[in-house]
Amino acid sequence: MSPWSVLGASLFCCVAIQSDSAGQPAAEAWHGKRPARTVIRGALVIEGNGTPATGPKDIVIEGNRIAGLVSVLPEAAAKGDARNRPQADVEIDGRGKYVLPGFINLHAHLQDERAGRPMPIDYCTKLWLASGITTIRDVGSNWEKAKQWRERSAAGELAAPRIFLYRGLAATEPAAGAALVRRYKEEGVDGIKLFGLYRDVFREIAKAADAAGLRRAHHTGVEETDAWDDIELKTTSIEHWYGIPDAALLERGQRFPPAYNYSNELDRFRWAGRLWREADSARLEKVLEGMLKAGVAWDPTFSIYEASRDAEKAQNQPYFRDYLHPSLAAFFEPNLANHGSYFTNWTTEDEVYWKENYRIWMAAVKRFGEMGGVITTGEDAGFIYRIYGFGYSRELELQQEAGFAPLAVLKHATLNGAIALGRQGELGRVRTGWLADLVVVNGNPLENLKRLAIHHGGIEWTIKDGILYHAPRLAREVRALVAEARRGR
Ligand SMILES: [Zn+2]
Repeated sequence: MSPWSVLGASLFCCVAIQSDSAGQPAAEAWHGKRPARTVIRGALVIEGNGTPATGPKDIVIEGNRIAGLVSVLPEAAAKGDARNRPQADVEIDGRGKYVLPGFINLHAHLQDERAGRPMPIDYCTKLWLASGITTIRDVGSNWEKAKQWRERSAAGELAAPRIFLYRGLAATEPAAGAALVRRYKEEGVDGIKLFGLYRDVFREIAKAADAAGLRRAHHTGVEETDAWDDIELKTTSIEHWYGIPDAALLERGQRFPPAYNYSNELDRFRWAGRLWREADSARLEKVLEGMLKAGVAWDPTFSIYEASRDAEKAQNQPYFRDYLHPSLAAFFEPNLANHGSYFTNWTTEDEVYWKENYRIWMAAVKRFGEMGGVITTGEDAGFIYRIYGFGYSRELELQQEAGFAPLAVLKHATLNGAIALGRQGELGRVRTGWLADLVVVNGNPLENLKRLAIHHGGIEWTIKDGILYHAPRLAREVRALVAEARRGR
């Protein structure tokens, strides 16, 4: 923490009263609205491109764009002296606070039901906003509903991040796959999600998507295609990690026991935990180099598998008490019919293998980052004991555990997400002219990434498209919604 922010923090209470007496309505009154001109005063700025914090600065927002970043003398900032500084309709006191680009959640699923039970869509969208997430890339949900949520979010009617819809497609014939891509393009998809496809179908879809100008996210499963196909066809991003160690196996295919059945969720996740140890390290290096050259991003989604290395911890997270919606709780119950709810007979041995699996996997992601590969941040919440938003802040921590410095972790969550979306000219940075998607954090997140988790309360404002959202209020609304759903059971 810089000496200026310490000073700012110590003066915080008295100056807050001054700004009230200046007659300006409290910024909280603007929750859910987009002022014509907002200024965040005297904050430290983390740009999102990996460069260190700078400031104090006044961040000027006009409508939905960042209109300027004005350096402020530390003494003037500490005193809250607003003379000769940009004026605004709404002011946010930024002293002792850090401003970051809004986070991009590259692996999201918009969900309004779990285990056949309803759940309001604001449950996930508000949790995302409260976690600083201003953009999601949805990689599979109810298309008709998601299209409406995308529109309502863009219009500022639904409190939600920006929504990019990468629609999954089921095709078993190459020509049918290509035709579906063209139809989906007409229906307004933002990109394509690939999963579980035959190689010939995968190829035709990739070509059709390129011709239509659609990016591709590939959940590279344990299947016919692996990372070599993504390298050859220049897939935009590999989701999770399967397909990367597969491409580095010396034998074609993992050594499964005779009774293994990929359709059985327990088999699937148990043996996934024994996959990385079979990858040949020299061949893995070549796979990673291939991904780098082909411009394939890696969206590792560490947090969604974490229950595999410590199931009881995952099942008893303290914030479940206030934030776990009963429909989601029902889905989490061990049940092989629900994807990812495989803890029907989870053993010590499974956890031991998964801990090793994580070590090799994290080292591979770290190596890819060292080479210059694009690593992104995705969550995949709604499965395996992960609540929306909480899964994302945990992902940041796990990327630090993989060996990345916090500044690099934040770059993955911001600029790199924008790169994967092809929107690096307007998203993912705190930069004049960029869209006003910002997070205002009380204290320094580089010192402790936990500050970014909802239950730690560090995020004060999430600004999406110039709309101000007071994060504690969103969190309160979600707690109320959960309490109400529990009463209605
Ligand atoms: Zn997913």
